[in-house]
Amino acid sequence: MRVTSRLFLPVAVLFLGVQQRVPVQAQSTPSAGPSLNERFQDAEDLARKGLYEASKKAFARIAKDFPSDELGREAADRAQANAFLRLQPIERTGESKDRVDVVILGDGYTVDARQQQAFDKQARQIVEGFSKVSPWAEYASYFNWWVMDLSSAESRLDTPTREANTVLGGAMSKFSQGQVTVDRDIVHNFLQRYAPFADTAMVIVKQGSLGTGGGDVAVFGPGGVNVAVHEFGHSFGNLLDEYSSQVELHPVTGGGVRGVNLTDSTDLDSCPWRHWIEAGAKGVGFFEGGAGRSRGVWHPTNQGCAMGSSGSAYCTVCREALVKRIYRYTKPIEACYPATTDVRSSIGIGAGSDAPVIFSVTPKRPKDHFLAVDWTVDGAAVKGKRDLSDAGVFEVLKVEPGALSPGNHRILAKVKDPTDWVLLDKEGVLTASREWSLTVERRKP
Ligand SMILES: [Zn+2]
Repeated sequence: MRVTSRLFLPVAVLFLGVQQRVPVQAQSTPSAGPSLNERFQDAEDLARKGLYEASKKAFARIAKDFPSDELGREAADRAQANAFLRLQPIERTGESKDRVDVVILGDGYTVDARQQQAFDKQARQIVEGFSKVSPWAEYASYFNWWVMDLSSAESRLDTPTREANTVLGGAMSKFSQGQVTVDRDIVHNFLQRYAPFADTAMVIVKQGSLGTGGGDVAVFGPGGVNVAVHEFGHSFGNLLDEYSSQVELHPVTGGGVRGVNLTDSTDLDSCPWRHWIEAGAKGVGFFEGGAGRSRGVWHPTNQGCAMGSSGSAYCTVCREALVKRIYRYTKPIEACYPATTDVRSSIGIGAGSDAPVIFSVTPKRPKDHFLAVDWTVDGAAVKGKRDLSDAGVFEVLKVEPGALSPGNHRILAKVKDPTDWVLLDKEGVLTASREWSLTVERRKP
């Protein structure tokens, strides 16, 4: 999900991870003193500092003084017991338009600062935990992580007799025992309003344990990272459950349970992981059980998988899907130089006498491997050079214009993530290229 629409809010601009409000047209104040905008900023600053109760009181006063103003209505929302408090970056690696932006929200945490601090800590533990599980660990630099603090009126879950009053409507799932869920529409509303750059979300439900995942939202309790890893496989990767806890005596007839990591038949032609079987990948085949069923459905490996029993890594097939998913939100190339695609160089009389022209691309940088870069000049392969510095990876090609004939030349950099975690990339999301046109002119004597 990439939400771009804005509601009635003042424009929220993100600048180096700090949310700043662009003042809307100043409204007349009922009396001399700070303007509405200044008061709103002050109330936001209190929340930013973690002084949530004081912030809510300030918002309540603004709402009372400006009941019909747009900012006044926003202040009224912020003064509610169920409300947005603040948004903070946990881990920021780059521009949101070229990163997977994950926002972690909390449900069932009251305005009490200690509860919010506990939530912030749990959110950080999730990020920390993901930094140790691949593919998230290997592709950590492709992610931005954010924490959105929300206050809930109550700190408990719905029961059959009474609905709890929490900001995201946390409840035990009606479908499975012990699994916690939230109202995903409310989650998306908060993202739209306060983190429109979000690609996907996680919700920690204070009273939860097991979770649910789907609709771009992974939900789980504060218990640990394993459930989060499983649920994120559902919500981010569209992966299905590989476990078969509910014993069924008869095969599932009619099938219909199909996805990246489950199939309802042992027919190789229609198998989603056929390419792995044909490549002879170790431990990949047809293994009965999945989606809670013990018969009539097959998962891809005998390796164990986070989508099966929580705690292990993802299997070969799931991991491939997740890496490709990451590349749906990010590009292999981070930056190029020169920025312009039209480069001109003039040469004097006598080849080789002129300054070289430098071309460079900065590919993304996974943790333990480099992306491969192939250079060509007019279709012929040439050798570039990798420069490593604190500023990143620079794949550089030095062209001597004197060695080229006057006229137009095509300089091409092809970048590919060579990871063997991905065997089949039909959409080509792991590759990108950058082309320059180099015009060599002969300088007039
Ligand atoms: Zn799997």
